[in-house]
Amino acid sequence: MPAGETHMWTTLDLERDGKQHGFVRLPFSSDLSAYGTIPIPIACIRNGDGPTALLVAGSHGDEYEGQIALGKLARRIEPGEVRGRIVVLPALNYPAVAAGRRLSPLDEGNLNRLFPGKANGTPTQMIAHYVVSVLLPLSDLVIDLHSGGRSLAYYPCCLIRDGGIATETARLVELMQIFGAPVGSISDGAGGGASTTLSAAAQACGVPALTAELGGGGSFSPKGEAIATQGLCRVLRHVGILPNAQTEPPPPVRLMRVEGRDAFVYAPCRGIFEPCVEIGDSVHPGQCAGAIHPIDGPHRPPQAINFTRPGLVACRRFPALTNPGDCLFKLLSDVERT
Ligand code: ZN
Repeated sequence: MPAGETHMWTTLDLERDGKQHGFVRLPFSSDLSAYGTIPIPIACIRNGDGPTALLVAGSHGDEYEGQIALGKLARRIEPGEVRGRIVVLPALNYPAVAAGRRLSPLDEGNLNRLFPGKANGTPTQMIAHYVVSVLLPLSDLVIDLHSGGRSLAYYPCCLIRDGGIATETARLVELMQIFGAPVGSISDGAGGGASTTLSAAAQACGVPALTAELGGGGSFSPKGEAIATQGLCRVLRHVGILPNAQTEPPPPVRLMRVEGRDAFVYAPCRGIFEPCVEIGDSVHPGQCAGAIHPIDGPHRPPQAINFTRPGLVACRRFPALTNPGDCLFKLLSDVERT
């Protein structure tokens, strides 16, 4: 639990039965709004005792499938269908959502790299702290919906963190298989977010967390939204919150993981990125991944990029113009389960 008491509050009574729509208020004092607050949308659908699911999207503002899926769910689900409570925040980093950006324009904060947050920190740190200090203690399950944002296109994946406790991992794998995204990625927590993600904060609080990647490119994927909607309903039914939800059986989930640093392919130079493979493709070592074309004249040849390991292309860079160090691809490898 992070130190300090939150300065944020909600207009909802999260202990009340029924459906409520309102805001979490984030104090933000500025030149033209001295006593102002940032209103972060929240919905609560509660019906008596039972588990609580915390459903989140818009942690990165330019990722849209989850924002729309959660808005539809919050409007559609009525309290009589619920046993327990569903807390929905479809635009968690609201300033980033309003700007259509991954980061908050208020502080350049990347919410899913700032957990567990700070009570007296920047606006984005304060949101992370509110989630950890107020919402996670209420929650029995977290589902955090993402996609690749403007810079990545993602093959639909569900992700969990392997904390090294076999029973916990088995429970998360079960939930991931019920969610039913085509790929289930098991992370050892050593990836880009490490211990600073909502998933990591939930794990530290003992709350099972699923993260989903549903599309990308700053656009909206109907297929990704459908995967999210079906997955949410199946998981909520499985944990008893939506006992009568009509759901299809989950499709098979291919269990995979990131194997080593060379699972990520980075741009070696500046130029225009020509990919030779697409998300969902299976690739082998030595296969052409793409090329970077110099922008300062056709007399300079493009620089070829080859994969150095086999895997499934989980994501690729979406914008063509590329700088050295930009992530071009991430590969996943099959998990051999005993
Ligand atoms: Zn994201």
